[in-house]
Amino acid sequence: MYYNEESVIFYNGEFVKAKEASTSAYGQTLHYGNGVFEGIRSYGTPEGTKIFKSKEHYERLKFGVEVMDIDFEYTVNELTEITYELLKRNNFSDAYIRPIVLTGENMGVFSAKGSDLIIQCWEWGKLMGDKLLRVKTSRFQRPNPKSCFVEAKVTGHYINSILASNEVKKAGFDEALLLDMNNNVAECSGANIFMERTGVLYTPPRGHIMAGITRSTIIELCKEEGIPVHEKHFTLDELKQADSAFFTGTAAEVVGLQSIDEYEFPLEWEQSHGHKLMKLYKQEVLGLREKCLTN
Ligand code: PMP
Repeated sequence: MYYNEESVIFYNGEFVKAKEASTSAYGQTLHYGNGVFEGIRSYGTPEGTKIFKSKEHYERLKFGVEVMDIDFEYTVNELTEITYELLKRNNFSDAYIRPIVLTGENMGVFSAKGSDLIIQCWEWGKLMGDKLLRVKTSRFQRPNPKSCFVEAKVTGHYINSILASNEVKKAGFDEALLLDMNNNVAECSGANIFMERTGVLYTPPRGHIMAGITRSTIIELCKEEGIPVHEKHFTLDELKQADSAFFTGTAAEVVGLQSIDEYEFPLEWEQSHGHKLMKLYKQEVLGLREKCLTN
């Protein structure tokens, strides 16, 4: 699904066939989850293939390797150039891009010397699909921000997301909602959340969540469109009084919620701010909004 005979990846300065690539069995990323990755999308736009917010994504990758004390030399510009070249070699416009920085061989629990950079890409539809999601609150909470850097996309952090997803999918739901250690609503396993109440949007502030690049884009779009939006903590009880809600993320883009646990969101999705923002987001990633604004 992710690669075939012809797929090319970037591996430590070279473009190689995905099927020929291999990594050490003694790497620290494999054993302890000390690696840093990104999830980026490119789109075929009227002006050619465009990577959406490449700078922001690669800055987040660099933040991750810095806080995890991993050696890493590439600049944001180099990473962006490599990624455009990789897309070209795979002949992709609409693609999901997955850079990952792996640490070296070290069975101790302190960062290994050196690192490997792999960048992969594949064609991937909206991660959670297009239909409204039936969401269940997980019994797993987001980690205490004093136990790790919650804003760094560290591979090991995703055990928390996997636990939550496994739990709710087994119970027959589409996606998991995680609370934070103070019992406020935090986020989905791989996306941020917004709720709409009496025409106003609310999203949890930074602190216990991934600082989503899609989340920031949505907040910017709200400001431009005059949609009121507040970064503010809210509880599960408050979410269960909302008119509507949606998730945001690079892989998921913007996707509406049908229900949370037993509660059905009463506002019709097509009438919600979320639906409007879903369409605006699509225009934004295709570079069509700049055109509308300048024409
Ligand atoms: N929360 C979590 C836990 C995530 O893994 C992601 C995906 N990076 C997001 C939110 C959304 O972030 P972004 O919009 O930058 O993709």
